[in-house]
Amino acid sequence: MDCIFCKIANKEIPKELVLENEELIAFDDIHPKTPVHILVVTKAHVASVKELENPELAGDMVMAAKKIAGEKNLDGYKLLFNVGREGGQEIDHLHLHLMGGK
Ligand code: AMP
Ligand code: ZN
Repeated sequence: MDCIFCKIANKEIPKELVLENEELIAFDDIHPKTPVHILVVTKAHVASVKELENPELAGDMVMAAKKIAGEKNLDGYKLLFNVGREGGQEIDHLHLHLMGGK
C-alpha cells in the first residue's frame, strides 16, 4: 500500500521520532501550524477515526500526546483528529495532531 505514514512507521522513510512504543510513533508535522506541531500516528494502518474500532488505541494516542506535551512543557495545547475529506483529513492513516506553544 502506498501510504506515507505506513512507510514512516516501517522505517522505509527515515524520520526523527519524538516517541515510539509498540503501537505508536510521533514526529514533527512537516508543515507546522503552531510552534509545536506533532503527529501521533498508529503503527497499524487504520484509515481514520471512522474505521477505528479499538477504543484503547484512541486512549493511548491521547495519553502519548499528553506525555509529549509534558516533555515539551506545554501549558495548554490542542488535540485534533481530522476525519474524512470534509473534515480536512489529507492523509488516510490515523493520526492525532498535538498543537501548541507560543
Ligand atoms: P491531516 O490533514 O489531518 O490528514 O494532516 C496531515 C498532516 O500531515 C498535515 O499537517 C501535513 O503537514 C503532515 N504531513 C504530510 N506529510 C508529512 C511528512 N512526510 N512528515 C511529516 N508530516 C507530514
Ligand atoms: Zn498507512
